[in-house]
Parts: sequence; structure tokens; C-alpha cells
Amino acid sequence: MKREGYKNNKGSNKKVTDKETIDKNAADKRPDTSAGTLENLLNIDVGKVKDPGETINAIRDELARHNYYYYIKDNPIISDAQYDRLMRNLEELEKKFPALVTPDSPTQRIGAPLEGGFGTVEHGERMLSLQDAFSYEELKDFLTRVYKDLGVGEDEVEFVCELKIDGSAVSLVYENGIFVRGATRGDGISGEDITSNLKTIRAIPLKLFKKPAFKIPPRLEVRGEVYLAKDEFKRINSEREEEGLPTFANPRNAAAGSLRQIDPGNTARRRLNVFIYGAVIPSGLNIASHHEMLDYLSEIGLKVNPNIKKASGLEEIKKYLESWKEKRKNLSYETDGVVVKVDKYSYQQKLGQTSRNPRWAIAYKFPPEEEVTRILDIKVNVGRTGTLTPVAVLDPVKVAGSTISHATLHNEDEVKRKEVMIGDWVVIHKAGDVIPEIVKVIKERRDGSQKEFNMPDRCPVCGSDVVKTEGEVALRCTSMACPAQQYERIVHFTSKGAMDIEGLGPAVVEKLLNEKLIRDAADIYYLKYEDIFALENFKEKSTANLLKAIEKSKQRPLSRLLFAMGIRHVGSHTSEILTKIFPDLDSLMNAGYERIEEIKEIGPKIAESVVSFFRQEQNLRVIEKLRKAGVNFGSAQKKVSEKEAFTGKTFVLTGKLDDFSREQASEIIENFGGRVTSSVSKSTGMVLAGKDPGSKLDDAVKLNIRVISEEDFKKMIKD
Ligand code: NAD
Repeated sequence: MKREGYKNNKGSNKKVTDKETIDKNAADKRPDTSAGTLENLLNIDVGKVKDPGETINAIRDELARHNYYYYIKDNPIISDAQYDRLMRNLEELEKKFPALVTPDSPTQRIGAPLEGGFGTVEHGERMLSLQDAFSYEELKDFLTRVYKDLGVGEDEVEFVCELKIDGSAVSLVYENGIFVRGATRGDGISGEDITSNLKTIRAIPLKLFKKPAFKIPPRLEVRGEVYLAKDEFKRINSEREEEGLPTFANPRNAAAGSLRQIDPGNTARRRLNVFIYGAVIPSGLNIASHHEMLDYLSEIGLKVNPNIKKASGLEEIKKYLESWKEKRKNLSYETDGVVVKVDKYSYQQKLGQTSRNPRWAIAYKFPPEEEVTRILDIKVNVGRTGTLTPVAVLDPVKVAGSTISHATLHNEDEVKRKEVMIGDWVVIHKAGDVIPEIVKVIKERRDGSQKEFNMPDRCPVCGSDVVKTEGEVALRCTSMACPAQQYERIVHFTSKGAMDIEGLGPAVVEKLLNEKLIRDAADIYYLKYEDIFALENFKEKSTANLLKAIEKSKQRPLSRLLFAMGIRHVGSHTSEILTKIFPDLDSLMNAGYERIEEIKEIGPKIAESVVSFFRQEQNLRVIEKLRKAGVNFGSAQKKVSEKEAFTGKTFVLTGKLDDFSREQASEIIENFGGRVTSSVSKSTGMVLAGKDPGSKLDDAVKLNIRVISEEDFKKMIKD
């Protein structure tokens, strides 16, 4: 198999210093299952397996292959959810056929065999994985088992709930308070000696605090999770992309990869962090529970996560879990679940452990925010300003609770940078409401069927030429009459932040265009009852409602109309600024480039775009149609907005304003019916004082004239 990911594919001579270089060809020695095997193994019906021995072996091989990619290469090629499904299938089969369980089965041990490159360290006590729960039902089963095995009532067992940090497990050994050795979890019995790399992590103290009240034992072995902050993960991945190195699928693999760098200098550059979540219980310390241990560890200078809570019973645990489902998105690091641990050490010891997991803890996992799926096609959308956007059509997959079938690829440069091909397997990331994005292409899964994608040189909708404006990355369709642009423009015009015409969403716009009832946004105001009524799904009431909504939209403020027109670079904020200075559309249309450009926050790009928009015949025709239809162009609005606070009052300006130039502020005052003069007298109504005000402020104080700040001014023009 060709392993493209491990060479610097930009062809530079830059030395690739990652761990990957050590075992460059090792992946080729891994068992490789034929295409389709994975799908079969994921979807087996455990009750109907004909040859359990063969199936069990096939799943073990498949898991071994993925353990290798995950733990050794830090580069998984299937999603965690798929891996967990394979493991569960194996567990169920082994439960059904116990004679087939072998000590080397992945259900009986953790991690992957250690690879060369680092020395080996035997852990003082085994480092285990955690049993996982994907539902409250499974969590409840765990609690029931704990109560039963301990033979005590619900009220007698306390649990500690902690966030499950999505990083890489480490063991740290302190001798007489000095950090002497650190290791990865490895296969649980032994790990790799990564002491030099761990010493580069500032959150790991090289020396523990000595406090009279807290004894430090001669040997203390603590366990923790080394992680990468979300921002740092992004930074590393974009740096790797630029260097032509393969990107990491998630912060966990990135943290693990960073820990296993041959050169500690590389680890230091990755800005890793750590949370300590436990210790091998030392003798001679009077600590009887997990939470006491966490307090102790924190007192002696180790970094313990602060979001820890004691709970008893399912309801209290659920409360903690629910509270973190959303809140965790605001944390600077990734969490993939909550760990629930029996608090009392004597109970933990009684419950014991399996060869993989402690029986006194469970990890409740949050729905995955990462998934692996396939790009079925790449389509090109044409936006309202003519921008061509490549969009990946995905084999639908559930991520963070919603089904994802498309992901934007932004532009041609992004497709090239990510080296995306049609037919590729990709890692998709989606957190909550965030737009899904392609984190990386899994080149290891390419099988020769992938096709290169190139942006079209003609608009895929109208066939016109496409151009790339200098300094911009996007390709643009040059035709004003492009139907795709018309559609997008009208959809934008009627949308919520713009003219907000309820009931006139994309589907209705499409129908109206198809029926040739409208050609541009202004045509909406000329629709007749029978036009709408004849459309599919429209009845008397819905037709009347839509006509009412269209009529109502004529009264939207000018800023909304300006935004709705879809002038390039003029978003809702810029529209607000422009309409404060130009309270009616005609004054804006007649203003020259210089007049617009000098407005604070506007600048040449916007000014150019506004002026050229109002120069185009086609746009002027639409504007005239809107005027005739009685859409508010703002002239009437001026009177409406003449505000008591301003009308007839004289203002004096002094000092520097943050958000307005002097001219801008004067213009606003005048638009609202006020007047601006240069010096303070008895007849001055108000003094607007910015930063470093001059003597005018002293005059105002002397004459007892009202002084307002920029904040007050902003409120007055808003109210
Ligand atoms: P795990 O991630 O489910 O949980 C165990 C680990 O959680 C511990 O070892 C510890 O490092 C960590 N942890 C974080 N916060 C903790 C806290 N507060 N208290 C205690 N422990 C805490 O198990 P694992 O064995 O590390 O990894 C197995 C998982 O890795 C699988 O379930 C799968 O999701 C993923 N995996 C994926 C692939 C793949 O190919 N996609 C391959 C192998 C493993």
C-alpha cells in the first residue's frame, strides 16, 4: 500500500521530525482486510453468525489494524463510533461463545503493542481503560451492579463525577517530591518512557510543593491526561497543512503524537497541557477516598480539573451530565464524556477490576462530534454574488446529533490544500450548531477509485465565463442574469434579516421563478392573488397570508432594504451605518465615491461596491420597480425618526469619538432634527463629549448644560 501521508508531499527538503518517520513502513506489515470487510463486520447480526470462530478472528484482526493506526500512528482511519461498534460485536460474540475467548483478545487487554523509539517503563500498577456507557440505561446498569457487588444500599455509595478529558493517558512518578519518570499508557502493563517530553509541559511540576500539612511519600505515581487546547490543535493542523504534512484527526491523536516526538523540542512547541485525575494509592498516606486524593494532589501542586462533583444515585449523576452536555463546548479543551467513579477506596478495592477496566468506574460518552464518511460527489453552488462554492456531497452520517449530508469546501484553494478527491474517506467535525467541516482526508483508505476534482471554467448554472478577481480566492460567474444568482438574490431579499417576508422561503421562490411569475426581487410586489393561489400547496388562507406578509414588508426600515439588495460587502451592520448618514435611498444613490469612502468603518472596498451597484442599469430598473410598488425608501422615515431628544436642539461636540467621525455624528444629529454648533453657550442643548474633551466640556459644566457620553449618544439614536 502506498503511504502518502508520511512524506513531505510538497517536495521540500524540510526534515520531517514526527514520530511517523520512525516506523515509516510499519503499517505495511499490518493485516489488511479486503474492502467491504469492515462494513460486514460492523453490521453483523451476532445471533445469526454462522462461523463464530472465523468472525471473531476477523474482528480481532480488524481491531488490531485500527489499534495500530490509532495508538501507534496517531492517525485513525475509521471513526471512534465504528471502532466501539466493532468492539461491542466482539464482546457479544465472546459472551455467546466463551470457549473462544483468548487472553490476547482485544476485549482482554488495552492499547497496542509498544513500538521502538523509546525505552519501556513498567507501571507501578496497571493503567486501565474504562468501561463505556452510551445511554442512561447503561449507566443505570453500572450503578445497579455496583450496589449489588458491594451488597449495600443506594444511599451508602458516593460517586465522583469528572469530565473525561479527550487526550492521552500518562503516568508520572515523583520520588521524594521530584519528577523522575513519565510514561504513556502503552499496553497498560508497560508504557513508553517519555520523561524528557513530559518535562517540557509547564503544567507538570518538576518538584511538588512541600507543605507541613501534606506529607509527600517517597514514591508517588500519579495518572493524568495530557491534552491540547482546541485552539492549539487548530494551529498545529493548519501549520501541518502548510508544510504538506498529514493533519491530525482530533486533539486526542494530536496530543498522543506530540508526546511521542523523538525530539523534545518538537513536543515543547506543541504547548501541551495536563489534568491529573488519580494516583496509585501510596501506603502511609491517610487518604481514604478518591475526592480526598484529588484535593491532596491539588494541594501539592498538581493540576486537577476543577469541574468535579460528588453525587449519589442516578438522578444526581444525570444532573451533572446534563449540565455539561452544552457547557463543555465553552471549555478551551475537548471532553468526550463524563467519568463516574466510586469514591471510597475500600469500595473500589472490593469491586476490583477486569483485565481491561476497573469495576468501580464508567465513562459515559457524549455523542461523537467526529465521524468518518465518504465524499460521493463534489458539486458547485453559485451564490447571490456569483461566487462559485464547491460543496462535498457526503454519504449521510450522524454527527453531534444531526445528520450531515453536505460540507462546504469553501473554494478552490481549500480543495487543493486539503487534497480532497471525489470518493475520498474523510473525517467530518461538527460541534453543536457549528457548520460541519472536513478535518482531514484519510488517504490510507484510497483504493484507486478516487477522482480528482477541478473547478469548472464556466458557470455550472448559466454557462457564462467565470473569473477570479485579483486578491480573492473565489471564482465568480460574470453574468448578472445568471438564474442561480437570481434565485440566491431573491432568497436573500425575502430572508429574515432582510425584508423578512414570512412564507416566502427558498421553495416558494423556486416555484415562482420556475413559473416565470418573477424574474427579480421587485416582481414579488406585483404578484396577484391568482398567481400565488395557482402554486402547488397554496390555499385561500396561505395565499392571503403571503400577500399580507409581502405588503407588510414594504414598511421595513431602509437599512433592511439596503441589506436585502445584496450589494457586495454591504452586510446588515454596514447598511445600518450607511442609512444613518443617508436616511433616504436617493441621497445614497447620488452620493459619490469620496463622500461614501470618508465615512468611518466604510473604506474604499465598500464605497466602490456601492457606487458600482447603483450604476448598473439592471439594478436601477429593479429599484424603480420597488419605488413604484411603494416600498419604503426612507424619505418618510426621516420624519418618523425625528426624535424628541434631537428635534430643535443645538449640540456641541468635543473630544474624540470611538465609533463616529465628527462629520458622521453631526450628520446623524441633523438627520434627527438637531443642529450642531461649534461653541457652548446658554442656548446649547447638549454637549457630546468623547475622549480627551477640550475646554468646551468645562464651559458646559459651568453653564450647567447636559453632557452626554458616546454611549449615551448611541442609545439615543437607537431608541
Ligand atoms: P477511553 O478513551 O474510552 O477511556 C479511558 C481513558 O480515559 C483513560 O485511559 C484516561 O486516559 C482517560 N480519561 C480522561 N479523563 C479521565 C478522568 N477524569 N478519569 C479517568 N480517566 C480519564 O478508552 P481508551 O482505552 O483510552 O480508548 C479506547 C477508545 O479509543 C475506543 O473506545 C475508541 O473510541 C477509541 N479508539 C478508536 C480507534 C479508531 O480507529 N478510531 C482505535 C482505537 C481506539
